[in-house]
Amino acid sequence: MTVVGGESRLLIDGELRPAAGGGTFETVNPATEEVLGVVADGGPDDLEACLAGARRAFDETTWSTDVAFRVRCLRQLQAAFSAHAEEIRALTVAEVGSPLSLTYSAQLDDPVASLGWVADLAEGYEWERDLGEAAPLGIPSHRWVRREATGVVAAVTPWNVPHQINLAKLGPALAAGNTLILKPAPDTPWCATVLGRLVAEETDIPAGVVNILASSDHGIGSALVADRRVDQVSFTGSTATGRKVMESAAATLKRVFLELGGKSAFVVLDDADLRGACATAAFTVCTHAGQGCAITTRLLVPRRLLDEATASTAKVLSKLPAADPTDPGTICGPVISARQRDRVEGYLRLAVEEGGTFVTGGGRPEGLDRGFFVEPTLIGGLTNEARVAREEIFGPVLVIIPHDGDDDAVALANDSPYGLSGSVWSADPARARAVANRIRTGTIGINGGLWYSPDIPFGGYKQSGVGREMGVAGFEEYLETKSLAEPA
Ligand code: NAD
Repeated sequence: MTVVGGESRLLIDGELRPAAGGGTFETVNPATEEVLGVVADGGPDDLEACLAGARRAFDETTWSTDVAFRVRCLRQLQAAFSAHAEEIRALTVAEVGSPLSLTYSAQLDDPVASLGWVADLAEGYEWERDLGEAAPLGIPSHRWVRREATGVVAAVTPWNVPHQINLAKLGPALAAGNTLILKPAPDTPWCATVLGRLVAEETDIPAGVVNILASSDHGIGSALVADRRVDQVSFTGSTATGRKVMESAAATLKRVFLELGGKSAFVVLDDADLRGACATAAFTVCTHAGQGCAITTRLLVPRRLLDEATASTAKVLSKLPAADPTDPGTICGPVISARQRDRVEGYLRLAVEEGGTFVTGGGRPEGLDRGFFVEPTLIGGLTNEARVAREEIFGPVLVIIPHDGDDDAVALANDSPYGLSGSVWSADPARARAVANRIRTGTIGINGGLWYSPDIPFGGYKQSGVGREMGVAGFEEYLETKSLAEPA
C-alpha cells in the first residue's frame, strides 16, 4: 500500500472519529488500481450528529456574527493547507488521478489561495448599508439593509476537482457566517477528510462549524439535502443528481445552489488561426482526461475548413496520450474509476452506432494494463443532433462538427440543454466578442483568454445549474438579506 498521508476519520462536531457503526470503505488510486487505504463510512447516526453539531454551532455560538474571528480562522486554514501542500499534492495525484501539473493550479494551489481571497472579501464587506430616511405611508423612517448568514449549509461534491469544489463552497460559506456539512464523493473521500483534519488540528474553527461526512452511500447525501435542519444546499455534480437534489430540497423550500453538467462549444470562426485554435481545443479536452464540467467538448469549425481542422486537431490529440499522472509532463491521466471508464466507453460505442468515426483514439491506450485510462479521442462524421454531441461524457472525447458561418455557429453552440462554458476564436477580437455575447453560457473565453479565478463568478445557464460559485456573487449565495426600519 502506498502511503500518501490520507485520513480515515470523519470530522463530526469538532471530533475526528470513526463512523458510529465502525464501517469503512476503500479509496483507490485510479492510475494503478491500488487500494490507497480506507475511510470511515458515515451512516445515518453520523449524519444525525453532524446535523446536531452544525445546528448548535450556528444557533448557539457567535460564529455567525464574529467576522474578524471567521477571517482569522480562514487564514489559519489557508496556512495549514500551505504548510502541508506537498503531502496533499501527493495525496491528490494518488486519489484523484489528477496530473501532477494541475495541482499547481486548479487542482490544489488555486483553491487554497482562494481561501485568502474570500477572507479578504469578508473583512472588507459592507455587512450593513444605511439607506437613510424615507416616509413610506407618511411615516418617517430610517432604513438599513443587513446581510446575514443563511444558516446550516449542506455541501455535496463530486470527485473531479475535489479541493477546488470543496473549498469553493467551504470558503464563502464560512466567510459568510454559516456552518457546514460537507459530503464528498465516495471516489475521493481523503481529499475531504484531510481538510477535516486540518480544520480540527490546525485552526480555531469551533466544534460543529465544519463537519466532514464521507460515505460510500449516496443515500446519505440524499438524506442530508432533504433534512429540515439544513437551510441551504450547495451541490456540484451531474445534472441528473442535481434535479433530484432540487426535488428533495423543495419540501422545506431550502435555498439551492447547483453547479451541474456541460457540453460546451469551442467555436472557430473562418478568420481564426486554425492550427492554434485546434491545438488549444485538443489540449483542453485532454486535460484531466476531460473530467471537467467546463471543458469544451464540441469543436465547431467552418465547413470549408473541416478536413484541415480535423487533421490538425487529431495530430495534437495523438501527441497528448493518456499517461502516468505523477509524470510532470502528463496532461491526460486516468478517469476516476472503472465505472466512469465503462460510462465513457459506452459513449464511444454509441458514437459508432450513431454513424461517427474515430479520427484518432476510441480505445484504451496500449502499454497501460493497470489504471482506468481512455485514449484521447476525436469523433468525426456526426452532427450536433448526435447524443454524443448533446450529453456530458466526462472523458477525453471531442466531437468535431462543421458550421456555416457565425449565425450557424451561435445556433449550434446554443442548441444544447447545457450552458456552462465555451470558447470563441477569431482574428478579429470584436467579432469574437460579438459571437461570445450571443452564446447562452455562464463563462466564455475569447482567443484563449481564461476566466478561472477566485474573483470570477462561475456557473451555468439552462440545465448547467442555478446560481454562481466564486467571486462576490458566489459569496453572496450564502447570505440572507434583512431590511430594517425604525422611526426617524
Ligand atoms: P453525481 O452527481 O451522481 O454525484 C455527485 C455527488 O452527489 C456525490 O457526492 C454523490 O454521493 C452525491 N449524490 C448522489 N446522489 C445523490 C442524491 N440523490 N442526493 C444528494 N446527493 C447525491 O456524480 P457522479 O456519480 O460522481 O458522476 C456521474 C456523472 O456526473 C459523471 O459521469 C459526470 O458526467 C458527471 N459529473 C459532473 C460533474 C460536474 O461538475 N458537472 C462533476 C462530476 C461528475
